[in-house]
Parts: sequence; C-alpha cells; structure tokens
Amino acid sequence: MQTKIILPEDKLPTQWYNIIPDLPGPLAPVISPRTGEPVTPEELLAIFPPAILEQEMSNQRWIDIPEQVRDIYTMWRPSPMFRAHRLEKALGTPAKIYYKYEGVSPAGSHKPNSAIPQAFYNKQAGIKRLATETGAGQWGSSLSLACSLFGLECTVYMVKVSYFQKPYRKSMMQMWGATVYPSPSEMTEAGRAALAENPDSNGSLGLAISEAVEDAATHNDTNYALGSVLNHVCMHQTVIGLEALEQFKMVGDYPDVVIACCGGGSNFAGLAFPFLSEKANGKKVRCLAVEPASCPTLTKGVYDFDYGDTAKLGPIAKMYTLGHDFMPPGIHAGGLRYHGESPLVSQLYAAGLIEARSLMQTACFEGALLFAKNEGIVPAPESSHAVRAAIDEALLAKEEGKERTILFNLSGHGFMDMTAYDNYLAGNLEDYEYPAEMVQESLKHLPKVKL
Ligand SMILES: *Cc1c(COP(=O)(O)O)cnc(C)c1O
Repeated sequence: MQTKIILPEDKLPTQWYNIIPDLPGPLAPVISPRTGEPVTPEELLAIFPPAILEQEMSNQRWIDIPEQVRDIYTMWRPSPMFRAHRLEKALGTPAKIYYKYEGVSPAGSHKPNSAIPQAFYNKQAGIKRLATETGAGQWGSSLSLACSLFGLECTVYMVKVSYFQKPYRKSMMQMWGATVYPSPSEMTEAGRAALAENPDSNGSLGLAISEAVEDAATHNDTNYALGSVLNHVCMHQTVIGLEALEQFKMVGDYPDVVIACCGGGSNFAGLAFPFLSEKANGKKVRCLAVEPASCPTLTKGVYDFDYGDTAKLGPIAKMYTLGHDFMPPGIHAGGLRYHGESPLVSQLYAAGLIEARSLMQTACFEGALLFAKNEGIVPAPESSHAVRAAIDEALLAKEEGKERTILFNLSGHGFMDMTAYDNYLAGNLEDYEYPAEMVQESLKHLPKVKL
C-alpha cells in the first residue's frame, strides 16, 4: 500500500509549460484603461520587469526555469503526492483518490512557486522593492519570503477584513521583513478615495490591487507583483502538474479527473494545464475548477472585458467576471474572493475544454474535517473546495459502482486559518449564495471595449 509518492530531486522540472501556443484560439488583447487600445509594452514596463513581460506574451511552449529559482524550489520541491487510502475507505468508494500537497512550502501554499521567480526576475532587472496586495495573506507571505531570499524590500496591502481576521499571516510577512498596511490605506490615492466613500470599508482584493499598482507606478525603483490571474503566474505553477505526471508514471496510474479550487485560477492552471497538454495528445482527462457559491466567477459570471481592479488602474482583460466593483461577502476562503479569473482559464472554459462547479462553504468545511480525520492534514479553507469536490466525485463513483481515479490539488494547509475552523465548529458559519442583484448591478459597469 503505497501512500506517499516522492519524486527524487533530480526529477524537479527544468522547464515550465506555457499553454499559450496550445490554446484553442488566439489570446484576446489586454486593453489599457487610459487609451482603450491594446496596452503597449512601455505601459507594462512601468510595473513589471522585461523577463516577466516576455513570459506574459510568449508563444514558446517550454520555458527554462533559472538555476537560482530551481535551487530555491528544492527547499520543498518536488512536493509529495499522496494516495488517500484512509479517506477512500471512510467513503467506501471504489474510486482512487490522489492529492498533490503544496502546503509543504515555507509559506504553506503553492504561491511561492510564482513568488520566487517573480522576485528573481525583478532583482535581475535592478528593482529595489516590490509592492503587492494580499487577500487571505497567502500571497503576501509568499512574496515576503521570496523578497527576503533575494534581498528585496516588500510592501503588502492586505485586505482589511483579513488583516484583522488573520493577524498571524501579517506577523509572518513581518518576520520575512515586509511592511504591511491594511487596505484601504491612507498610503495611496485609491485607498484614500475608498476611505472617503466608506471609512468602514472591509476592503477587497480589487481595491488592494489598485493600491499596490499605484505604489509601483509612482515609484521608479518599485515594481508590482501579482499572485494569480496573469499568464506568467499560471505558467510558473505548472511545476505542480508536471511533477504529478511523473508521480503517476512512478505508480503506473493516470487520473480520470483532476480537480483544483479556483480563485484567480493559478493553482488550477498549475495542476491542470500539463494534463490538458496531454489531452491534446489523445489522453482522456476531465479538469474541474471549483469555486465558492458566494463568488462564482466561472459558473455565474460573464465572459467579457473587465478591469482587474476596483480603481480601474490596471489593464482590462477578457475573462470571466462578476464585475470589478463586485464586493463578495466576507467568507472564510479569502483567497477565492476575486471578481475575475485568469484569462487563460477563462478561454479554456468558454471553449468547453474544462469544467467548473460552485460549492457552499459549510459543505467544504465538512469535507475538510472528514479529510483531516482520515488523512491528518488540515486543509486551507480555499483547498477545502477541491477536497469537497473530490469527495463528491468519489461518492458519485460509489453510487455508479464505477472505478475512477481522482487527483486533486491540496493547495495549502490551514494552520493560519483556525479562526475559520473555530467558527465552523461553533456552528457560526453561514452559507451565502452569490447575491444575484449585486452582480447584475456590478455587471452594468463593465468597460466598453471596441476592437
Ligand atoms: C491563494 C490561494 C488559492 C487561490 O488562488 P488561485 O490563484 O486560484 O490558485 C487557493 N488555495 C490557497 C491555499 C491559496 O493560498
């Protein structure tokens, strides 16, 4: 009974997989909010280093991982893949359940997979400081770690509701040397405007992005780093799926379905894109993205051009969106509260190449508890969406009396999210359906893009 599938260190991928040349059609252009025309490289170079910009638009299928980045990856990579024998038994399912565990990184999630190369390329370009936003604190802590390892300063705008709900995430960032502000803050125009309108604003990821982008755009030695959504972030995360493919080779198995939770789409992309590339070569695998019912971007949003941030400072992209001024309720899976979605994941979903499903948060916490009781690991509330969907697939297999091989991404551990579990255990968590009227209202404000 093999439970833990470990890849030797020399099997750590040497290249990332870039899905752009394998998309079902050309990428939609990214639009400048100032001109209404496709963004120019000059505009993006104000906030990103050249190497990242090149990756963002590259048509090259395989991109070398720099030696310095691989060196840091080996602190926790290759990450383990587990066969969830005990969970399978508890469910009485004929299905085989595997999970890839990204909680072994120092920050406790998949996010350092992109934070490390982003800090590396910025250091290489002579940048002194990175500014970013963080929702639940996972990205902020990952970038703080990466900046610390490459000798960069780091400023983090942390969504205010999380700043108070997750004080230990803030402490982690400070340990790694970052400066952390609750967003909306007094530090930027965007923050001051939001506070003037509503001094009690909980903040949102879109608003925190506005603050970080403004900070980067107004300081020459400072760049911006985004933890999800963008093409280069999705590409950096493909180390997850590439390793999983090797791990399946080791045990002579292959998944029928791969599952990941979906906020901006990066851990889903990281797990699923390498499998999709095999699908194009004749392998049969379903890819399922799971999102919260309170912020159901793929399942209830529209596929259209929208701003990436509330203050309309960042570029306009074609993606599934709930509207850039949609304020999701303060659910506990903070990392899944973004109004938009990776344009790459969006394009694949629109083309019918991947599936999506939305789940209520209490069902996810219930799944997380069953998982923890049998497999030991406390999942991040975000990851609990993938856990629940994997359980549901396994129960369906039981109902149908069919075998099925399931792989899901356990994108992080929940040790910093115990307040959420406390609330669940005390029976204080409510389910939120997405407020349809709020989304309708927000969708009225999409930018008019003429191409
Ligand atoms: C940030 C985060 C997510 C959601 O982000 P994606 O870009 O959609 O992957 C999921 N799980 C964990 C643990 C996270 O920290």
